[in-house]
Amino acid sequence: MRRGPRAAAFLAAALLLIPTAACWTPAAQATPTAVAPVRPLRHVVIMSFDGARADATRQVFPPALLARAAYSWEARTTLPSSTLPAHTSMLTGVPTAVHGVRINPNNPRGYIQIATVFSVVTQNGGRAAAFVTKPKLLYLIRPGTAARVEHLLYPRYDMSAVAREAARYLAQQQPHLLFIHMSDPDDQGHHYGWMSAPYMQTMARMPDAVSVILDVLTRMGRLDDSLVIVTADHGGVGRTHGGDRPEEVTIPWLAFGAVEPGPITKSIVTYDTAATAVAALGMPIPRTWQGKPVVQTVEKVR
Ligand SMILES: [Zn+2]
Repeated sequence: MRRGPRAAAFLAAALLLIPTAACWTPAAQATPTAVAPVRPLRHVVIMSFDGARADATRQVFPPALLARAAYSWEARTTLPSSTLPAHTSMLTGVPTAVHGVRINPNNPRGYIQIATVFSVVTQNGGRAAAFVTKPKLLYLIRPGTAARVEHLLYPRYDMSAVAREAARYLAQQQPHLLFIHMSDPDDQGHHYGWMSAPYMQTMARMPDAVSVILDVLTRMGRLDDSLVIVTADHGGVGRTHGGDRPEEVTIPWLAFGAVEPGPITKSIVTYDTAATAVAALGMPIPRTWQGKPVVQTVEKVR
């Protein structure tokens, strides 16, 4: 990755604030103590499982896989708790009051004009890519801000197929930022109800999709140099979502790779995801963003 003056300036500033990036640990547990070079991570993958409730995710994650994660079951999305507004916050680092995307059309016209994780990574010399299963998410990927944008049609591309496609691309092209969106839980929730048996059967396949990405990073020899964020845009209750009930606004937030495993105690809002991704890559967080990195760099004590 080429590092421009802006990234260099950020790194210089970071030297004063953040110890060595040998590992990422929940920010609440971090105690910045030493001045040392920052080691930006090489890859960040954001996996968004559309409509995955935090409590459902907690039920299906095997203990052995969870033991590898820094995680919270109490992260929150923004309002309205709908796909496009929530993903806009997740990927732009700001709440709805700032980005203004309150409606949820299937095919919005044009593109968002404010900074996104894609534009920040690209402007700092990185390569970004996105694999999405709803066309509305293309609104968030302005032309020129991603090296590759794949629109994979659900249900032909269920979460397993999407993860496999994205993993193949990750291994071949090695993007710095990869955003992966999977529609399965939301589809099952709208059809059968959130927490219904079909919904939970679909949720039960989520850990395997995560493992596909972790496994390819392991084969690349890059897992310890990567951050894989697993989250959702919103939950749901009955057969709907969009409101402010806890079942709708509570989302899972897990991070794998170069993290210190364990529960994350600080409160997380979905726009923290954007800030976390950009900071992990050693890039400057736009001053306009309200999101804060969920995990920060600390020297790992071995
Ligand atoms: Zn959604």
